[in-house]
Amino acid sequence: MRASWRSSLQFRTVTISAALSGVAILVVGVYMSVSIGNDLFQSRLSQVLLDSNRATSAAQSLFDSSDAIDRVQVQNLLSSARTSISATSSSRLIAVLRVPGQDPSTVAPLDSSTFGQSTGVIGTDLRSQVQGNNGEQFWQSVSLIGDAAATIPGIVVGSQITVPVAGSYELYIAYSLQDAEATLLFVQQTLGVAGVALVLLIGAVSWIVVRFVVTPLRVAAETSQKLASGDLAVRIPEKGEDVIATLARSFNGMADSLQSQIRELADLSEVQQRFVSDVSHELRTPLTTIRLAGDVLYDQRASFPPATGRTAELLHTQVERFELLLSDLLEISRYDAGSVQLESEPTNLVYLAEDAIDSLRSLAETKGSDLRLVAPGGYLNADVDPRRIRRVLQNLIGNAIEHGEGQPVVVSVDSDVQAVAIAVRDFGLGMSQAEVAHVFDRFWRADPSRQRTIGGTGLGLAIAREDASVHNGWLQVWSSPGAGSCFRLTLPRTKGAVLESSPLPLPPHDVTAARGETGHVPERGGGEHV
Ligand code: ADP
Repeated sequence: MRASWRSSLQFRTVTISAALSGVAILVVGVYMSVSIGNDLFQSRLSQVLLDSNRATSAAQSLFDSSDAIDRVQVQNLLSSARTSISATSSSRLIAVLRVPGQDPSTVAPLDSSTFGQSTGVIGTDLRSQVQGNNGEQFWQSVSLIGDAAATIPGIVVGSQITVPVAGSYELYIAYSLQDAEATLLFVQQTLGVAGVALVLLIGAVSWIVVRFVVTPLRVAAETSQKLASGDLAVRIPEKGEDVIATLARSFNGMADSLQSQIRELADLSEVQQRFVSDVSHELRTPLTTIRLAGDVLYDQRASFPPATGRTAELLHTQVERFELLLSDLLEISRYDAGSVQLESEPTNLVYLAEDAIDSLRSLAETKGSDLRLVAPGGYLNADVDPRRIRRVLQNLIGNAIEHGEGQPVVVSVDSDVQAVAIAVRDFGLGMSQAEVAHVFDRFWRADPSRQRTIGGTGLGLAIAREDASVHNGWLQVWSSPGAGSCFRLTLPRTKGAVLESSPLPLPPHDVTAARGETGHVPERGGGEHV
């Protein structure tokens, strides 16, 4: 219910309109029921008062015209008066009680009542009113006890009568309101049924009306979702002239211009990519020739005059860099063209890290950096393309040595059930936050004038990040000026799995421990310099 409430506009609108009309119908129903009830009571009351007045007058005139003098005659007179009251008033509940405070009389008949179980309903208030006011009628609403001890609403009307010789008596006649109650109940039931039917009807009507509005909106929402997820060809059907049709037309117009702009951009970028790829390919042949010629010159440099020998050496190193740049450019253009094929196989990443370290050991020695491998063990095998991952590691370790200022470089490998992570930590120059933001950009260097020992095309990290993402992995960096850098590569252990966390922390342990923080691991670029 809660999910429908949140997700369905139709459900919400129908529920709200049904609830509001339900409340309105309830208020109107209660008002009608109360006023009908009052009206029924009032008309029954006036009828009852009339009725009892008539009965009392008839009885009084019977007494007035009587010449009874002894107890038996008075008793008989009272009985026939009661029969007459009963006949005129159509009520069987009659009580005749001698008004208290009169002289005791041997002739006066005893109190008599046919109220039965309902005797107690004649309240003291009513009695004192009747006792105090001769010739007036008083009434009171009461609950009569009917058959099977059920209570029935009723009215008791009281007045005084004067019985010859015996003195004043209180006469009470009780009337049942059962008929009026039954009528009221019937009206209430009818109102209830009609109210429920009306709420259902309003719910159904608003469901149909809202459907007319919501269906095109739903289509619009689904279409824009598809458009947002990359399906640029989707359009909303345009029907009619109303506001929904206007929305559809403007949406479609927007989608058209978006599609054409994206197509233009895609064409442009395709041209650029093809250009880079073509140029790189075209340069390969002349470069190979230059390389061969350069090698010949380089081999013979000892026989040249010193200045020419230096030139041959310079030519040799620059041609080497050129070749490296060209192969990086070709690799990047392959990624851009989306033509990269992974050749995955189960690979032990510790061996791979050892391999990469070994290949860079001589460079590390010239820089005076100590290369350390920390691999606590675990699930170290992963389904990866070893050639690409070795290249990433060589790049990261090479950079760490290059910018590590002769400090040790620590390569850590750790894993959990889902992922394997390799972190390359150096304690060198580090980078500022602004530099970290660009570190994976193509051809970006923190300090282009910095002395380089190896390659250094400015494409290394850009390719490394492509290599990581083609594995569904992450390549992230933490760096701080003066405190060094830590590059962390996280790869899913099985091909195509989605990463949720990394087995190694970033910033690295030594940094968080020095700051006195607990082992918080920001993921996907969280944290200050990450
Ligand atoms: P290259 O190393 O060929 O210049 P990269 O893409 O590998 O290109 O690196 C780009 C830039 O990032 C480097 O020029 C350097 O300024 C910076 N960088 C990379 N790794 C580190 C590191 N460990 N410490 C400091 N700066 C680094």
